[in-house]
Amino acid sequence: MNRFLSIAGEAASEVREVSDFIHSHPETGYREFLAAEKLKGLLKHWGFRVEENLCGLETAFKASAWTAASSSVPAFCFMAEYDALAGLGHGCGHNLIAAAALFGAYAAKRVIEEDGIPARICCLGTPAEEGLGGKVKLVEGGAFRDLSAGVIAHPLDHTTPDFGCLSVARAYIDFYGRASHAAFAPEKGINALDALTAFYNGILEWKKTITERQRVHGIFTKGGDAANIIPDHTQAFFYVRAGNEADLAQMKRRLETLAAAAAAKTGCRCAVNWASAYKNMVFNKSLNDEYIRAWRDSGVTLRETDGTEGRGSTDTGDVSHVIPCAHCYFGITNGVSMPLHTAEFREAAGTDAAFEAAMKTGSILARICLRYFTEHSFREAVHRDFELAEK
Ligand SMILES: [Zn+2]
Ligand SMILES: [Zn+2]
Repeated sequence: MNRFLSIAGEAASEVREVSDFIHSHPETGYREFLAAEKLKGLLKHWGFRVEENLCGLETAFKASAWTAASSSVPAFCFMAEYDALAGLGHGCGHNLIAAAALFGAYAAKRVIEEDGIPARICCLGTPAEEGLGGKVKLVEGGAFRDLSAGVIAHPLDHTTPDFGCLSVARAYIDFYGRASHAAFAPEKGINALDALTAFYNGILEWKKTITERQRVHGIFTKGGDAANIIPDHTQAFFYVRAGNEADLAQMKRRLETLAAAAAAKTGCRCAVNWASAYKNMVFNKSLNDEYIRAWRDSGVTLRETDGTEGRGSTDTGDVSHVIPCAHCYFGITNGVSMPLHTAEFREAAGTDAAFEAAMKTGSILARICLRYFTEHSFREAVHRDFELAEK
């Protein structure tokens, strides 16, 4: 760990400048032009070779460094996120995900070069995590085909290994009826708001029966145009979440069935359009245990997880279906309970303590990466976990 401390001492001011810049220049998904430029600039300065416009995404990039030319050498990736929330800036602290990935990749590069360890290291710039699925597009575009394993660390109000994420799918549900004067001739209309409320009542009944690892939640996005017109079009936007892809597929069918039943009951027509989806996080016990061990060696005891505790979703889930991967967390609030996506978390993400936590986490990630390259049995265990895991 002392070795990482000295590398951190040399690199801290450069990484801090990037983290603070991203924090004070929030950019939403696929518009993170300034953030991507900053990150690429420092990685190039450190000697990484940077592939821009990765998979045709302007704000995605792959920065690589290697000590062996052979493509048979495995490649380990540190994933960076840097998108902000509309209207809230870095309320999810993604500037710190970037800082941890940046420093982790740099520290690992320094060690493999100084020690002559055959390895390939990559800092992957992954845009648009907040709802737009940058990593889903990167997976589809083949960005992970030459990568063997990966890690990402997200700020939170406490430090914890990967606790898992649910699969999620998002749908717009439209109901179509027929407009009519609501007082003179209501009988000539077909009320799409009746269909929407019947659908919602169906959801409420369904909610009573869902399991601990299922979620269904949403809002009405259109309830009609005027109170004196029978609505001919209404709309809802809903999420369904489940512990795995098979369960999610069943939940999607259930939602479609409820929408169809609501339409049939009210004489309306309905359309369900699935907008986007993230897969569940495939749990990798070996990577996760190494995160716990590295923190323990630096004097911090973390509670063990088995990947079934999380109820959120992330596009890193899609990555975990194609390479072994862990989505870990680091505390930045000095133990103060604080939810993500709030103004107070945004302020916390810009403090000295948060930056120091990101740097320390970066060195923990670098340690995982180095163990992956230097201990054959660990690497085998990581890949065995991936092969055997329920997907
Ligand atoms: Zn978020
Ligand atoms: Zn986030």
